[in-house]
Amino acid sequence: MPAKTKIKKVSKIKNIKDIKQELERESKNPFPDPIKSFCFNCKEEFWIKFVIPQQSYSSKNFLSYWTEQKEDREKCICSPCLRKIYSDSNQRKEFLGVVKDAKKKVCLRSYYSRNII
Ligand SMILES: [Zn+2]
Repeated sequence: MPAKTKIKKVSKIKNIKDIKQELERESKNPFPDPIKSFCFNCKEEFWIKFVIPQQSYSSKNFLSYWTEQKEDREKCICSPCLRKIYSDSNQRKEFLGVVKDAKKKVCLRSYYSRNII
């Protein structure tokens, strides 16, 4: 690496006021609100919860989490639909056919048996 490489020491803080407001908001409500979604399968409205240990929104309700398909990126699926798919042997076979990740297959089975979905 050439020694000429510049290292920016100035951080990207642009607006202290914004940050202060954000910190105040976070201290009052440390976790993001659930997000309202529509299930692509049953078209019902449902809420995707923020999962504290994961520090992200529940990945199981995003279809692309399971399928890893670009075209599924915008699609959400409610837990009852996931359960319905998993409990029907034909639908399960079809769905597991698109889930390439073996760990996710195990995860889905575990969600089903623990009544998480
Ligand atoms: Zn649904």
